[in-house]
Amino acid sequence: MSSPVRPGTLHVIATPIGNLGDLSPRALDTLRSVSAICAEDTRHTRQLLAHYGLERPLVALHEHNEEQLADKLVTRLQAGESLALVSDAGTPLVSDPGFRLVRAARAAGIAVSPVPGACAFVAALSVAGLPSDRLVFEGFLPAKGNARRERLTTLAAETRTLAFYESAHRIEETLADMATVFGAQRHAVVARELTKLFETVLDGTLEDLQARVAADPNQRKGEFVVLVAGAGEDEDARIIEGRRLYAKLGEHLPPSTAAKLAAELSGAPRKALYGS
Ligand code: SAM
Repeated sequence: MSSPVRPGTLHVIATPIGNLGDLSPRALDTLRSVSAICAEDTRHTRQLLAHYGLERPLVALHEHNEEQLADKLVTRLQAGESLALVSDAGTPLVSDPGFRLVRAARAAGIAVSPVPGACAFVAALSVAGLPSDRLVFEGFLPAKGNARRERLTTLAAETRTLAFYESAHRIEETLADMATVFGAQRHAVVARELTKLFETVLDGTLEDLQARVAADPNQRKGEFVVLVAGAGEDEDARIIEGRRLYAKLGEHLPPSTAAKLAAELSGAPRKALYGS
């Protein structure tokens, strides 16, 4: 069989997001054949390789050293080495390091070749039953409440399906903020621990999902993709503005006062903002 790697090529390889059976045979062959593997967390990747009985030289490539390492790696590629790039889980560059290295390699005329595979938001989309022909991938929201609500506000009128990544310790707050900013009745899907033992895909209104996640500590464990249906084409601009004001005023005022003021200022019915 011919070698799966080409000299002087950067192979960008997707790894599993949980189930180790999801590493493709071509990914395995490529990892086996490259001269070194650039990995986000070398301990994590070493374990993955050990599972398949592989041992390759590893180079730690993460957010903090990527910029300075990129040139050195490009020099190695120019000298004819073939390198792989992996992240801890799923597809490199998707909410993961690698963009700077790929940019530097392409700028130097190096071939960059994908070995596609798992990606958490694509896996979630494939089982969500939400419109999937047009999508906005937003990755992680800001960790701080105010910044998170502001980011959500900029997305409130977006009609395409929205995709987010979220961690266990923020999932409850994030669903609450989404219900406030997008409206409690907006449809959404929470995909947890995909491809793993406790895989769960919940769907319902944001209000309903928030209540289910709040009521069951098990639903707050693990890794999450949240997909939210886009705003209806006919969504009332006053209601979108009312929710924006409600989220903002709610940072300083009790919910009922914030809703009253937001309704007055936006012209939206108070019920559409609070207690519907
Ligand atoms: N590069 C990865 C990809 O292709 O999806 C994403 C890396 S990002 C640092 C990690 C986030 O992806 C997690 O916090 C979670 O939001 C999401 N994620 C990863 N694995 C997942 C899984 N098995 N089920 C649900 N979400 C997952």
